[in-house]
Amino acid sequence: MKSNSEVHIDRHLNADDLIVITGAGGFIAGALARYFHDLGFTRIRAIDRKPLPEWYQRVPGVECLSMDLSEKANAIRAVEGAVEVYNLAADMGGMGFIEHFRVECLRSILVNTHLIDAAWRAGAQRYFFSSSACAYNTDLQKDPHVRALKESDAYPAMSERGYGWEKLISEMFCQEYWAERGLETHIARFHNVYGPNGTWFGGREKAPAAMCRKVLETQDSGDVRIEIWGDGTQTRSFCFIEDCVLGIDQIMHCDRLIATPINLGSSELISIDDLVTMVEQIAGVKLQRRYDPSAPKGVAGRNSDNTFIRQVLDWEPRTPLRTGMERTYAWIAQQFADRKAGKRVVRD
Ligand code: NAD
Repeated sequence: MKSNSEVHIDRHLNADDLIVITGAGGFIAGALARYFHDLGFTRIRAIDRKPLPEWYQRVPGVECLSMDLSEKANAIRAVEGAVEVYNLAADMGGMGFIEHFRVECLRSILVNTHLIDAAWRAGAQRYFFSSSACAYNTDLQKDPHVRALKESDAYPAMSERGYGWEKLISEMFCQEYWAERGLETHIARFHNVYGPNGTWFGGREKAPAAMCRKVLETQDSGDVRIEIWGDGTQTRSFCFIEDCVLGIDQIMHCDRLIATPINLGSSELISIDDLVTMVEQIAGVKLQRRYDPSAPKGVAGRNSDNTFIRQVLDWEPRTPLRTGMERTYAWIAQQFADRKAGKRVVRD
């Protein structure tokens, strides 16, 4: 199988073709804008509804627009002249967010609905949608000793309420815009993406960043107790951000993956308890654990079955969790110190 450095991608794209990336004030789309910029693409339009000073990263030379894409007129403006459109804009967060704000999650449907129609009318060549493992049938995720989820497990449908159903319906929009209208669409189901430049406090952060922050807080306060949501036995896999953006690029430019949802995640499964142990080891501390069974904990277990992606791309996300967590911890530790010193940091 190819390693990341050996990946070759036929994009059929000129360096000055316009690439539009939405949600780019956030974590993954911000990294994607940087990735295409660093590859030498000269016309990238990045869009987010957040005011520009609140974007996690702003890449020099990239056109940055602050617009709410749930408004149709803005969606039309966003894709003017676009050759490729990457839709990563969504109201989202970790379990704490998606269990409490289902209306906000569902309303992200407006973004994709307007954007895909605008992209089709504008004559875009390709359209990418960022779906989620939350689209999978939750009945298959009740056991921490999970069978990894394969692409066909989304149906019969019983997605995560709110967030997961929005993803599933938006996937269907992508499939039907291809089937009925000929817009080439590509759909990746992300599984828990983590890494530097992601949200790490404020309520939308996910488990890896939350664990790093909590461990740093104990070091700062001297209080050696750490609170864990659920009983710690929940299992997950986590995909490093660099694997995620490389995967997006490959999925978008693979003819076998038109209108075909595919997992984009790591298959390295870990329990939340073991994730805490990993962060403790990285930080060189040992903490007292307190479990909060009433806190949002999501499904009991979830892993990515990578059979299909290996078969189609001869590749899968492969950064070891330990390596990715070391880099994430180092970045959050720096953010933590910067915040304490009154400097600007990434926030939700
Ligand atoms: P993020 O919250 O960091 O970024 C999403 C961005 O979308 C935010 O900056 C937000 O302001 C923007 N946005 C929301 N509504 C908007 C609107 N109406 N108009 C314009 N911008 C809007 O999240 P992320 O982790 O970077 O996720 C990116 C995409 O990947 C999302 O679609 C998310 O559902 C999906 N996804 C992420 C993960 C993960 O683990 N991070 C897992 C599965 C799926």
